[in-house]
Amino acid sequence: MSFFAINDGVLHAESVALTSVAEHFGTPAYVYSRAAIESSWQQFDSALKNQSHLICYAVKANSNIAVLNILARLGSGFDIVSAGELHRVLEAGGDPAKVVFSGVGKTVSEMQFALEKNIKCFNVESANELTRLNAVAAEMNRQAPVSLRVNPDVDANTHPYISTGLKENKFGIAFESAKDVYLQAAAMEHINIVGVDCHIGSQITELSPFRDALERVLILVDELAEENIHLTHLDIGGGLGINYQGETPPSAEDYAGAIMESLKGREMELIMEPGRSIVGNAGVLITTVEYLNETPYHNFAVVDAAMNDLIRPSLYSGWHDITRIFSDTDAAEKEYDVVGPVCETGDFLGKNRTLKLAQGDLLAIHSAGAYGFTMASNYNSRPRIPEIMVDGAIMHEIRKRESWGDLINGESLLPD
Ligand SMILES: *Cc1c(COP(=O)(O)O)cnc(C)c1O
Repeated sequence: MSFFAINDGVLHAESVALTSVAEHFGTPAYVYSRAAIESSWQQFDSALKNQSHLICYAVKANSNIAVLNILARLGSGFDIVSAGELHRVLEAGGDPAKVVFSGVGKTVSEMQFALEKNIKCFNVESANELTRLNAVAAEMNRQAPVSLRVNPDVDANTHPYISTGLKENKFGIAFESAKDVYLQAAAMEHINIVGVDCHIGSQITELSPFRDALERVLILVDELAEENIHLTHLDIGGGLGINYQGETPPSAEDYAGAIMESLKGREMELIMEPGRSIVGNAGVLITTVEYLNETPYHNFAVVDAAMNDLIRPSLYSGWHDITRIFSDTDAAEKEYDVVGPVCETGDFLGKNRTLKLAQGDLLAIHSAGAYGFTMASNYNSRPRIPEIMVDGAIMHEIRKRESWGDLINGESLLPD
């Protein structure tokens, strides 16, 4: 079911008209549906009900503490990639014992913070990181729980910027070195080997890359067992795609089913790190048409949202559906590039979109719940926009629009 639907000619989030969100909070703004987020999470959870599992939502997809909090209330774990994300999880009431820490560049202080909070596991991405973690844990007189992120060298058939599981990508330990690094880990006094992990990319719309990755990882699991290294969990990462433009990604159920099928007969806890597939289609970006600029060559709809608010179109040619929220115009249908006010040719939200538009119209940019606000910046000194969570008929402002004061917060003039 869709949590964003047209009702009486107006696009709604659950039972709230997006026109009233615009009235209350202005545009541009991100609007999320609580029910949509919970429903996606629950689809994973129920698909895995016959399997020992932990869903570690990937915080970087959407890290607002209200989003983290509703997931924590469902019992979710979290996949973090920085100490800042751990801080958010803790502020949101998340359980550190359900946190896994990924990322290729963990600093000493990030390791200390995570060890202090007793997270579930460090997903270690290189031999040198392992050495550092052992030293940091020794200093604190702790054992660091570790899973090695291995790079299974499979092609996820996704955009090159979001593909992470090829041997030329910077992520993870090369498959052929993984056993050696495990043996090194086993000899380290302050490392406690608990699992294995891989994450092959994002916006993956077929099952075969996941199956291929898992097959390789399981070969490693068996080789390690022969060395008397017994892993208690297997973390398959995230990366399940969503529908932006008619893609037909596998459902959470089919995805989980395929993975459980490959795992059959093994007593391992299965960890998943979905991000986009939990929140991507649970949010829209609402924006107002400021100007229609119809040149002899091209029609532009200049809106009040821009690449600094949603960078996916500029950064990875991400495609987002764009629809009118409500309009009483009987303007003719035309093809527009929907662009923002930022001084960059790359500042567009959608190209060649057929729309009936008048100035002042409200538009919804769909599928904006993941990698939207979290990748926003203040470029062109644009205050970051508010985030609104709709829950049934209620709107909650879960992040305020930044002020001009916020823009220069922390800056200072040189002395006279
Ligand atoms: C980004 C990331 C995820 C989440 O990826 P999605 O495509 O949003 O599901 C999971 N695990 C790791 C290690 C990541 O870097």
